[in-house]
Amino acid sequence: MRRQLVFATNNLHKTKEVSTLLAGQYEVLNLKDIGCNTDIPETADTFAGNAGLKSRFVVENFKLDCFADDSGLEVEALNNEPGIFSARYAGQRGDEANLALVLQKMKGQENRSARFITVISLIQNGEEFFFEGVIQGTIRTFPTGGNGFGYDPIFQPDGFQETFAEMDMEQKNKISHRAIAMRKLIAFLKEQAV
Ligand code: IMP
Repeated sequence: MRRQLVFATNNLHKTKEVSTLLAGQYEVLNLKDIGCNTDIPETADTFAGNAGLKSRFVVENFKLDCFADDSGLEVEALNNEPGIFSARYAGQRGDEANLALVLQKMKGQENRSARFITVISLIQNGEEFFFEGVIQGTIRTFPTGGNGFGYDPIFQPDGFQETFAEMDMEQKNKISHRAIAMRKLIAFLKEQAV
């Protein structure tokens, strides 16, 4: 029987990506599946802190093992902004406005280095574990590609000619920050199952 694990997210893009990565080994339930409608506060000042707030909320309120991730884009020339504020960098105006703000602040900047980071908090049997994934890349001067979400159209991972938004989901899933962190989580979960 497949084990149940909650992924504390409402983001359908992420649920889809992660379900593909977990490929049949676990039944991944998202917040909607367990009837959690609360907007879980992300008030910590680190990715790990925010991931932990989300996983702990589900464990305490729904009594199910849970993992949560917190991700963001860190741009070197912007003192690692948008960082933990990635989802709301331009206020509540959404992905396109966030991306436009990064492009605007990066106008004329020679140092285009950036990285995506994911930290996952897993709470299993009351114990918390962390898994991190990082992918280095550069910020393009204008957006390209229609796939993915968030800052994908302006992020070109090192070693590739395309932005994340020009890659199909399968390709992005092989190399993304989330995939790297998820692979660490999966390896850990498999070890637990032995
Ligand atoms: P979250 O913590 O994974 O929800 O990510 C917070 C924000 O970081 C998102 O709303 C996006 O703006 C950005 N982000 C995280 N992961 C990605 C990605 O894979 N592609 C593009 N943007 C991302």
